[in-house]
Amino acid sequence: MENTAEKKKIVLSAIQPTSVPTLGNYLGALKNWASMKDDYNCLYAVADLHSITISAFRDEPSLLRRNTQQLYAIMLALGLDPDENTLFVQSHVPAHSQLAWVLNCYTQFGEAARMTQFKEKSEKHADNVNVGLFAYPILMAADILLYQTDFVPIGADQKQHLEIARNIAVRFNSIYGDTFKLPEPFFGKAGTRVMSLQDPTKKMSKSDPNPKGCVYMLDEPDVIVKKIKSAVTDSEALVAHREGKDGVNNLMAIYSCCTGMSFEAIENEFAGRGYGDFKSAVAEAVVEELRSFRDNYKRISGDKAYICECAAKGAEKAAAMSARTLGKVMKKVGFMLP
Ligand code: ATP
Ligand code: MG
Repeated sequence: MENTAEKKKIVLSAIQPTSVPTLGNYLGALKNWASMKDDYNCLYAVADLHSITISAFRDEPSLLRRNTQQLYAIMLALGLDPDENTLFVQSHVPAHSQLAWVLNCYTQFGEAARMTQFKEKSEKHADNVNVGLFAYPILMAADILLYQTDFVPIGADQKQHLEIARNIAVRFNSIYGDTFKLPEPFFGKAGTRVMSLQDPTKKMSKSDPNPKGCVYMLDEPDVIVKKIKSAVTDSEALVAHREGKDGVNNLMAIYSCCTGMSFEAIENEFAGRGYGDFKSAVAEAVVEELRSFRDNYKRISGDKAYICECAAKGAEKAAAMSARTLGKVMKKVGFMLP
């Protein structure tokens, strides 16, 4: 058993506990996490260190703790396996912060300044443009490179961050010889960029202050139906995937992800029918898609002792794996070994 686990390719991905994950997080990333859990050696993390780059928790630090525990329970409810997979909380494994510091010194200010997420988030959080927000992609590079990761299942919004991680790895390897494996992104199909239901030109984000734009994974079915029915579309009453029909395109992508249908098949199904019918079908497909997750979550979320026990086990496994790469890096850079 152990031999096969070692030969499996390594997958790593993480999600911030900034709020309850959205349908965007689910279709763009978490659904792929679950589909990869058996065939790869998967490490999945709650990225709590990343989430203090915004000020959401400064008035109420205990909210960060609650969100982290909730997100860990969500990972378990997705069917991820705490024994076969490595499910951990990022701050429990100090190697992430340690490697991030080293990698900061191998990243140029100019290349980090080109990151669009930094530009977007610094506009959104103009009162708190901190250095951590700027260094976010370097911590993410450390998360990935620590585990000699082969594949990183992410949404399209994280593509640029994966590229910078690869660039940092190439640079480090060219100075010190082979140290880091170059990770590849893994994108799902239609769900790589789910847009806000209220402003379909912007991506659905769990830290969006307008909850109507997002379907949250823990929303009750009636809430999901209401949100999808009030999604912004257009006045054409035509279910078709076309330039300029952002709202309809988004709903079609969501429907396609949940049912496996092509855009053409969806257009045929709703030919001559209005948006009312279409939205009801999308809502029903989403409710159905999340059904078993919702049931599992209700079962698991109350068992705090089990959640903490799994997190401790995950942290131990991740610490052991990351120690190898960190040790190599410290030696190569020339630090005196303890
Ligand atoms: P935040 O607003 O706090 O940044 P987020 O919704 O962007 O939250 P993250 O924790 O930053 O979520 O990202 C977790 C994963 O979800 C990443 O792999 C990211 O690419 C993916 N993701 C985020 N938003 C979307 C979206 N709208 N569509 C598809 N995938 C997404
Ligand atoms: Mg994000």
